[in-house]
Amino acid sequence: MPDSLRKAMSVPSSDHRAPDFAELMARILKDAKKVFKTETGQVVTIPATGTGGWEASITNTLSPGDKVLAARLGLFSQRWIDLCGRHNLDVEVIECECGEGAPAERFHERLSADSDHAIKAVLVTHNETATGVRSDVAAVRRAMDEADHPAMLYVDCVSSLGSMDFRMDEWGVDLAVTGSQKGFMLATGMAIIGVSPKAFVASETATCPRCYFDFRDMAGANKKGGYPYTPPIQLMHGLGESLKMLLDEGLENVYARHHRMAEGVREAVRAWGLELCAKGPELYSDTVSTIYVPKGFDSDTLTHHAFDAYRVSFGIGLGELAGKAFRIGHLGSLTDAMALSGIAIMEMAMKDLGYPIELGAGVAAAQEHYRKTLDTAIEAAA
Ligand code: PLP
Repeated sequence: MPDSLRKAMSVPSSDHRAPDFAELMARILKDAKKVFKTETGQVVTIPATGTGGWEASITNTLSPGDKVLAARLGLFSQRWIDLCGRHNLDVEVIECECGEGAPAERFHERLSADSDHAIKAVLVTHNETATGVRSDVAAVRRAMDEADHPAMLYVDCVSSLGSMDFRMDEWGVDLAVTGSQKGFMLATGMAIIGVSPKAFVASETATCPRCYFDFRDMAGANKKGGYPYTPPIQLMHGLGESLKMLLDEGLENVYARHHRMAEGVREAVRAWGLELCAKGPELYSDTVSTIYVPKGFDSDTLTHHAFDAYRVSFGIGLGELAGKAFRIGHLGSLTDAMALSGIAIMEMAMKDLGYPIELGAGVAAAQEHYRKTLDTAIEAAA
């Protein structure tokens, strides 16, 4: 979280019915569309988190009993599937191996067989934060189009939007769900959702119960420059500033910066002789790396030790990766120095616990990468 955003959120509460809030709201909704890369859709902000965003996207556009097709890629896609089940949707799961992305060809197969179009929604997690895997959303859209299937496409972009390439209109995404605390680099507390015109039409007839999350109330109030209830004023100020930062830097530069940072971490992983969970380079996430510990070691012991000994908190292995992998997050306002210190601390923690690594190996590999790519970083910042 950059200091400028921390400061932007550090404002006194103000009257959300005063004209200056309407100005802020209008600017946020206009600029947020640019980050989602949508001209036809609208952006809805709801005081919640990414999970609330999932719930809002589902309850606004679907009815109990509706069939939903979803890929299970890791803990977060599993939680979205669970949420759909709890809303009495009929979820059909495409099981994927740990480290794989959403399989477009299996979506194609299943959608082609669905001749009466019972499937109303296709759910894809763009960046599975548990496994550090990016899915090819464009390929899933192509699969849907080739199957000539009218289902809506729902994408969880919680840990990718504002950090990795995302194209709502081009990929035909109907609902794109994120939260304030990842690519927008803000405090937690806001779900931010891109909603296509088709999804808004669906919200007119969908019957899943919703009230607080109702897009129609939000869109109606936003149109008049307001909010249907008290907005999270400080977060709104932060979001206004975050959008300005991202757009001033240029989204392509933002993505390139994340890629460069991630590659440095991946170089370190290679130098350690460890393996990423993601099964191939096209699947590598630029916001989080999930790294298997060698056989015979426990990743929870490692992350606890790193925290206890060095006060650095690394992501634990989630779901089926518990005890088997740890995660290094590399999104937001991260510098070479921050990434290198994280890599150095992880090396120390591994060495302390008898991992077969050489102190300095990962740091040196990442240093080489950051040195070699420094020109591109300077050019982008200029
Ligand atoms: N989806 C993904 C990919 C996530 O990484 C997360 C949280 O990290 C969520 C959904 C849930 O978001 P939240 O914890 O903000 O409710």
